[in-house]
Amino acid sequence: MFNLPSFRLGRLFGIPLEINPTWLIIFVLVATSLSFSYFPTAYPGRSSLVNVTSGVITALLFFASIIAHELSHSLVARTGGTKVRKVTLFVFGGVAEMEEEPASPGKEFAVAIAGPVASIVIAAVFFTAYLLLGFAGLPDIVWAPFQYLAVINLAVAVFNLLPGFPLDGGRVLRSALWALTNDQLKATLWASRSGQFIGYTMVAGAVLGVLMGTLDLIWFGLIGWFIAMLAESSYRQQVVKTTLEGVPISSLMSSDPVIAPGSITLDQLVEDFFLGGRHSRYPVEMDGSVVGLISLSDVKRVPREEWPNTQVFDVADRDLERLLVDANESAEAVFSRLAAQEPGALLVAKDGRLVGILTRADVVSRVKRASIQTPTPSD
Ligand SMILES: [Zn+2]
Repeated sequence: MFNLPSFRLGRLFGIPLEINPTWLIIFVLVATSLSFSYFPTAYPGRSSLVNVTSGVITALLFFASIIAHELSHSLVARTGGTKVRKVTLFVFGGVAEMEEEPASPGKEFAVAIAGPVASIVIAAVFFTAYLLLGFAGLPDIVWAPFQYLAVINLAVAVFNLLPGFPLDGGRVLRSALWALTNDQLKATLWASRSGQFIGYTMVAGAVLGVLMGTLDLIWFGLIGWFIAMLAESSYRQQVVKTTLEGVPISSLMSSDPVIAPGSITLDQLVEDFFLGGRHSRYPVEMDGSVVGLISLSDVKRVPREEWPNTQVFDVADRDLERLLVDANESAEAVFSRLAAQEPGALLVAKDGRLVGILTRADVVSRVKRASIQTPTPSD
């Protein structure tokens, strides 16, 4: 659902602002709950047209506040030298996407705290507007939205300050632990465990609430679940980054791999290479140069009776643009290519010559060796 393409609204302070279609869900939820529940209950006797107009405007101002929160993170990050890709509104609120993680605990703290500070300032501004307009004797239709916006922005600040990664408060916690231990990975582990605890506590609270008849809590539970998932995946990403950053592919690959000739048939390949061989995939050579990669699963896609008449060359994966990597490249840079389902291995070249093969297993075993057990909710 989050893979839906976002719609570009424009730029603010040079930062692209996008809206994901999933945002419409939360916008409609907020606008209808204001129009048909909050305003009619708090100010009985108004016409529904007044309530709906007021509800939609208030909801729009609320999401403008969320954009200001994300922009605040973004502008502080940019001041510190981090490139900001974009700010996006989506179903669970807003997100500021950065090109990279903050480089130091101090920078992480500044970027993280900027959002909640913005929300508190916005709450104060709306609260002041509410007081001034109220004391000026204006009707409640004018000041009621400001009262709501003051409260909700304060709630956004408080919620985001909960000390669980990837919430802002979790980033503040990570920056503190990082500064104390000088170990970013360990700091991430603890901050994301705390994030999982907070997320699953919200889910449990929501389930209890729903069982007792408070259906409104479903949303709260979904956000909790989202936080818990994100906490775990953020930690995994950090493990990958910490263990593979700056590690050249050449140090993880298997050197001088056995090469299969592209001119032999599939039954010869199975006989001579897969049976008795230790590998499940081989680089393929044709006329003295490497042309691709063949795996057992490529062979299995061809019906067995055709094996004697089919050349390895015709079945091999020959998308060299995707398969070839440079031996000096960092393992971190190619991790996502390997993590994807296929091909599960890359051909490593140096000075235009094949020097090795890098499999998913090579990289994963390195990450596993270096990592502390990934936190699980049952811990
Ligand atoms: Zn934030």
